[in-house]
Amino acid sequence: MKIKEASFVISNTDIKKCPTDGKPEYAFIGRSNVGKSSLINMLTNNSKLAKTSGKPGKTQLINHFIINQEWYLVDLPGYGYAKASKTSRAQWEKFIVDYLEKRETLFNVFVLLDSRLEPQKIDLEFMNWCGEKQIPFSMVFTKIDKLSSSALQKNLSRYKKEMQKYWEELPPVFTTSSTSKFGRERLLNYIEHINSSALQQ
Ligand code: GDP
Repeated sequence: MKIKEASFVISNTDIKKCPTDGKPEYAFIGRSNVGKSSLINMLTNNSKLAKTSGKPGKTQLINHFIINQEWYLVDLPGYGYAKASKTSRAQWEKFIVDYLEKRETLFNVFVLLDSRLEPQKIDLEFMNWCGEKQIPFSMVFTKIDKLSSSALQKNLSRYKKEMQKYWEELPPVFTTSSTSKFGRERLLNYIEHINSSALQQ
């Protein structure tokens, strides 16, 4: 997929205020500092679209961007920021859960995982929750330029092993680097493929 146009639409904490034109929506979520903003900017070829975080945990909003006038890229707040207050964590849960459970136009959630880390409890819990709720999701490993391919393979298989404890079928897995742009084409083509299958139905 070629990105011809990417622009900001709206930020809010209320699913009722999200766009209502029914266009397919793809959400990006992960722990603070996982590389979400960098990935969004890399995918859209726009170094400023999502704000790369100087202050983790700060962007506590659902951010909609419209891509090629065809689909929405949704930047969701990062989870698991240790210093966030209990109240802001509870709020996070409420509106994100609301969004993930109720948003009918949500076609896929890309769950970002730092490829350098071994499986993290919070990420596994989140993915298991998506599975239980039948929210379609994919695993996107970030920052793969930061480790050797053997270390990457090791971490990927650890994650797969953990997931296989709960699920027979694994979700699609993407490996990405925002610095080298590795994984860009594949991820965008995946979105394009889902969009065109939806149009045919
Ligand atoms: P966010 O909090 O999830 O939005 O994370 P950011 O996109 O702000 O990235 C957090 C830090 O990781 C920043 O210092 C980025 O420059 C760095 N980073 C993000 N993605 C990559 C990547 O693919 N490769 C490398 N080497 N660094 C990355």
